[in-house]
Amino acid sequence: MSPHAELVSRLRAAWLSGKTRPMEYRLAQLEGLGRFLDEKKQDILEATAADMRKATQLDSAFIRKDPYGVVLIIGPWNYPINLLLVPLIGAIAAGNCVVMKPSEITRNVERLVAEMLPRYLDEDCFAVVTAGVEETTRLLENKFDYIFFTGSPSVGRIVMTAAAKHLTPVTLELGGKNPCYVCDSCNVQNMARRVAWGRFFNAGQTCVAPDYVLCSAEMQEKLLPALREAITEFYGPNPQESPDFGRIVGDRQFQRVQALLHSGHTAIGGQTDAEERYIAPTVLVEVQQDDPIMQEEIFGPILPILTVASVDDAIAFINARERPLVLYVFSSRKEVVKRVLERTSSGGFCANDTIMHMTIPSLPFGGIGQSGLGRYHGRSSFETFSHQRSTLLRGAGRETLNTPRYPPYAPHRLPLLRAATETKRQTTCLLL
Ligand code: NAD
Repeated sequence: MSPHAELVSRLRAAWLSGKTRPMEYRLAQLEGLGRFLDEKKQDILEATAADMRKATQLDSAFIRKDPYGVVLIIGPWNYPINLLLVPLIGAIAAGNCVVMKPSEITRNVERLVAEMLPRYLDEDCFAVVTAGVEETTRLLENKFDYIFFTGSPSVGRIVMTAAAKHLTPVTLELGGKNPCYVCDSCNVQNMARRVAWGRFFNAGQTCVAPDYVLCSAEMQEKLLPALREAITEFYGPNPQESPDFGRIVGDRQFQRVQALLHSGHTAIGGQTDAEERYIAPTVLVEVQQDDPIMQEEIFGPILPILTVASVDDAIAFINARERPLVLYVFSSRKEVVKRVLERTSSGGFCANDTIMHMTIPSLPFGGIGQSGLGRYHGRSSFETFSHQRSTLLRGAGRETLNTPRYPPYAPHRLPLLRAATETKRQTTCLLL
């Protein structure tokens, strides 16, 4: 066992208890830190002097948003245009040069982007590289100044490892299993329509789709007819004939999703057609935690329902797993929504709807932990592709003002030095 395993698990237990969340708690901890600086000032001075022998105004200090330089954007296949071009907008707005690498799986989009897009942009600064896994591995050997990756967590790890070789910063927009807790108090018909829309849109191949439902056994009984009704309303009696229901992107992905149908018991749908890569909108019940469908992101039109006894059971279930890209809660009780929001962690959070949170440009979009790193959309896209360059511009004169900070140090200079470096809070503290 690692020497610090016990320490880390102790802190994780404290984290899960929710104690670090209230504002009062955070203020109290910051106050404690302030007291440490005040009360131990002399000790700090002595220790830093022993270690390193070290002890502004009228200036212009600002943050300059500088472009990073040459940026690499790698896109997935599920929204192949959107997930390549939305980051590109941020990268261009921030002033970068960009290499784009669309997914090789959506071959038509890849060809279109590679052939057409460069004609609309300055080819000195913007390029499209078409590459499969092997060529992308070679592409990643190059030094980029920023890498923006959208795709699976496993490939995200590979990209981050390659970036680490050059200390290149990354944004990782990844996937995972997004839980959807349905409380006993909610409008079942509205909830069923919103969940069915989010789950079956693009045949379930959406990173923010609700991946599974957690609810009570009583709610499941009400939910099944409402979901059946919503699916029929959206896609007709036979979804295979609906022009509004999609197909799985490729044969390999079809085989993977089809195999997940064997978990639990099929309550709605379940039909497949390999030739068309069609999988009907499907709802599974009696699904167990260790069933294959609960081990990976579904990324297909299947919605498993798992029963839980209470909201606290749902919270424990969610917290026992990787942090999701988004967490959905359906409840007409504000205190239930608040409880789930406060006791869990996820990239985004959306109450009483699915997917819509990511359509609001003022809300940064991104994951946390296994679901990703960094954020974009709207202004956040510009921020993501900009380096915050802390800048101080001083005049070359007024040298007498600088005299107190130069050695030899003398006690009578301390008040002036302190005034110049004071940080305001309830009391003052001197940050060396
Ligand atoms: P993927 O990780 O297989 O591929 C993404 C990109 O990485 C592709 O361009 C691919 O060519 C490249 N790639 C694949 N293997 C590679 C390797 N070994 N080395 C270097 N590059 C490699 O993902 P996908 O199947 O295209 O997309 C589905 C995944 O993306 C799902 O997990 C989904 O949740 C996630 N996703 C996340 C978001 C988001 O915004 N967070 C959006 C869409 C999709």
